[in-house]
Formats: sequence, structure tokens, C-alpha cells
Amino acid sequence: MNKETKYIFVVGGVISGVGKGITASSLGLILKNRGLAVTAMKIDPYINVDAGTMNPVEHGEVFVLSDGDETDQDMGNYERFLDLNLTKGNYMTTGRVYKTVIEKERNLEYKGKCVQVVPDIPLEVIDRIKKAGAVAKADVVIIEVGGTAGEYENILFLEAARMMKTESPKDVFFIMVSYLPTPSKIGEMKTKPTQHAARLLNNSGVQADFIIARSDVRLDEKRKEKISMFCSVPPDRVISAPDVDSIYDIPLNFEKEKLSDKLCELMGVVCKKPDTKAWNAWKNFAKHAHNGKETVKIAMIGKYFETGDFILSDSYLSVIEAIKYSSYSQNKKPIISWLNSVDFEKNPAKLKDLKKYDGIIVPGGFGSRGVEGKLRAVEFARKNKIPYFGLCYGMQMMVIEYARNVLGLKDANTREVNPHSKNIVIDVMESQKEILKNNSYGGSMRLGEYKAILRSGTVAEKSYGKKQIVERHRHRYEVNPSFIGDLEAAGLIFSGRSPDGHLMEIAELPKSKHPFFLGTQFHPEFLAHPLNPHPLFTAFIKACAAKK
Ligand code: GLN
Repeated sequence: MNKETKYIFVVGGVISGVGKGITASSLGLILKNRGLAVTAMKIDPYINVDAGTMNPVEHGEVFVLSDGDETDQDMGNYERFLDLNLTKGNYMTTGRVYKTVIEKERNLEYKGKCVQVVPDIPLEVIDRIKKAGAVAKADVVIIEVGGTAGEYENILFLEAARMMKTESPKDVFFIMVSYLPTPSKIGEMKTKPTQHAARLLNNSGVQADFIIARSDVRLDEKRKEKISMFCSVPPDRVISAPDVDSIYDIPLNFEKEKLSDKLCELMGVVCKKPDTKAWNAWKNFAKHAHNGKETVKIAMIGKYFETGDFILSDSYLSVIEAIKYSSYSQNKKPIISWLNSVDFEKNPAKLKDLKKYDGIIVPGGFGSRGVEGKLRAVEFARKNKIPYFGLCYGMQMMVIEYARNVLGLKDANTREVNPHSKNIVIDVMESQKEILKNNSYGGSMRLGEYKAILRSGTVAEKSYGKKQIVERHRHRYEVNPSFIGDLEAAGLIFSGRSPDGHLMEIAELPKSKHPFFLGTQFHPEFLAHPLNPHPLFTAFIKACAAKK
């Protein structure tokens, strides 16, 4: 083990969904602010090799890394909080680990030995963790273990962590993110579930060094003492983490408890004084979540609406955050409404409601449900000059709508929805045909970073302020080259193209025709960072604010 590198495991106790990812990201940020090189990893205990094949309604957004890895939304949180570029090596699942071990076995890499669940699976996990630390030249690697203590699924990952701790006790640490409920009829905050969770963790041979106690309100001293006594953690290492209105306040709250000092002391590392310039920049950014006076009302039109708000906002997490950053940078407060595109199919009169909004977004999506409703919304936005921003599927919708209603190709469609249409304006790439024939869906889309060249004088080029961009992709279909000439002759401009000119990356209408009507084949939301908002989102929000 590289003696210089410290490893902090963030594990869950009591229940999931209490913000382990945001906690891990915030810990990373406060340590980075003390001059330490930090990287972050996520371990997802499921069998899926990546998150790409999962329904976002069930598992939240699929976050795409620059190298094309389809990962968990927490990877997006790490990149945003830490202003980092992470890669495949920062993400693992049970499926991914087993796949490697089995492949190694087939290649005789275990040299005739019997390959066993323990220790060979944990050893592969450890190998990956150390590699990620070495690649990032990290002083500190933060590793978030999915799930909670006591679960069957993550036990081999905890075993890996335990083995690392045994090998190098001074370099490996544990933070348990726990939850303290206040049952409404009892009216008192309860520590017992946290005590049980700490013991469950002990059963795996792991002792928490810190407990981050999530709860509705701040913990009182009595609660801290109780947790300290029964969970074997000193009272000053029980950190209160009450609910907040904005996740961006969490690192600030941690520092109110002097957490970076305490962590450095625990790890035995000498760190620098806080970087006041960076810290003030963060503070200033976080303040905007509370301050924005003027609102911008954005309608998000999609189809994932049957499962309640919590999951819904998770499926579009990066889009929401990108909207926030660009709004905050202009002192605006975004209000996002979720509209079900299927409603516009059932009741077209509802389209009129769209006039209430300052801007409309059709985000990424798959399949045919709700597509006709999305197309109607795009048409409404175009004709009524409401700022429109199409993300991936939202750009494809723009092209289909334009082909239908301006070019007069009434049955224009994407092959994904209607392969029998005579005018397939969005088609599958040649390289994708074989993939689809063999049902090889996992990790086989056009994924990750690709360059694009922008046309001078367009909305896109002016927004970015440069001619060449790199953006992240996740799609199988593309604008069909045989329709480009007709679409451009009819006024739609393809202002961004792949360097070889074959793939259409951005479509737009000029400012003279529409205040903002632009779509991207890529996903700009993956590159929006708190202190570095995405130029296209900023241009869109500006247009929304101007509409008011
Ligand atoms: N379904 C479309 C495609 O595969 C768009 C994908 C997306 O919006 N991410 O090309």
C-alpha cells in the first residue's frame, strides 16, 4: 500500500437515502480546501456491470463519465463538488468485480489456484481502490459503499475495507452516515437505530471513526453523548447533520463543526490552512440558493412521472443542478415544474398552460411513450417563441417537429419510435445496427466525450465563446444525413457538428427567428459545475429571464 495515501470509507447505517453521496462529496470538498489531493469512488453493490441498463425511475439518473462509463448519480455529485473529472476506475459494482475475477480465472491468471469468494473478491476490490488512488495521485481517497450496514449485498466490500484496515491501520478510516428519527407521537430524537447500526458494522469487523448523524434538527449534547458511549466514538467525532434547504450548505455546516481539522488529526496528516479564496467562492455560490429574488419558471417535459416527486427529481439530477448553477450565476431563482408529455396527447388544450413558463426543456429519454406530446410541446415553444432547450432526445424531437411542420413530412419520426415511417429523420448509426441485432445493449451506445466544431456567428458559438467543444454523449440515434440539406434550407441550423462533419451535434434557430430554440445531441448537463456553470444553460436561462 502506498503509505502516503489515506482511504476514508463512507458507509451507511439505519436507512438509505439520507445523503451519503452528498456527505462523501462534502467531506472531499473540505479536505480539498485544506490543500489535499482528493479523489472519490462509488461502490454499488448490485450485479449490473454498470448503471446504463437500469431504469432511471428506479435508480436515479445514469451519470456518464468522460470515458463513457455509465455510472451512478453520486459520481456526478463528486465531480460537481470536487470539480473533478472521474473515470471508470472510480466506479465499481458487484457485477464489474465478479466479471474481472471470472475473466482472470479463465485466463489462468490465478495460476491453477481455487478462486474463492473470500478473499479473491475483496482482493480485487482492494486492487481497484488502490489503483484509483494511484491514478489520481491522491492524498485521500473517499470510497462510498452503497447500501447500509447489515445488508447482504455490500458485505464483501466491507470485508475488503476491513482487510485494508488490518493491513494498514494508520491509513484506513470509516465514517458512518446514520439517521436519527424523531417519531411524531414520541416527539424525541432516538439514538437506538444508530446504536444498532454501529453494532452491525462491528459485526463486519469495522469500527466507525466518525458518525455523521442525519436528522430533522440539530443533535443536542445528550444525544451526542449517548451515541458516543454506545457506538465507541468520541463525542467530538459525532457530527450533527440536520436537514438543510440546499445541499451546498453541507460543507459549510461541516466546517462549523471543524470537521476538516478533526479528519486531518484522525488521519495524522499535516494539512494547509483553509484556502480562503476558494472557500469564499463556494460560500458566495451557496448563498445564491437562498437569495435569488427574481424567479425563472421552467417546464420540464418528460414521461417519468408516475412514481412521485422524490424519484422524479433524481432521474434528472444533473439537469436540475445545471439549471441552478446558471440561474444562481445570474441571481435568479429557478422554479421547475414537471409536466407529463402524455397529458398533451390526451388533452391538447393543456398546451396553452405552457405560456405560463419562461422556458421549456425536453430532457433525454428513450422509447415511444409520450413522444407525440413532447413534439406538440416543441411545436408550441417554436410558434409561441418560448425559450426551448432540447437535451439529446429533446434535440431529436426538435428535428422531427421541424421536419413534420415546416418541411411538411407528416410522418417524420425516429427509427426508435416508428421504423416503418417513410421519413426517418433520426436514424440509427451504421455501427449500431449489428449491436441491436445481437441485443448487446449494455455499454454500447455512443458514450462519453466527443469533440464538436461550432459554426461562427451561431447562438451555440456565441454562447460558448469558442469554436471547438468537448461534450458527453449517451445515445444510439443521430440526425439522418439525407435530410440535413432540406432542414437547413428550411431554416434549421446545425451549428455544431462532429469534426468530420457527419454527425449533427447542435440544432438551433437564429436569434432573428426565435429568442432561444436550441437542442444538443450530447448532454451538456454532465459538465455543469457549481462555480463553472454550463454556457448553454446560461444562455437559455438568460433568454428565459428576458422573456419575463
Ligand atoms: N433515445 C435517444 C437515442 O438513443 C436519445 C437518448 C437520450 O436522450 N439520452 O438516441
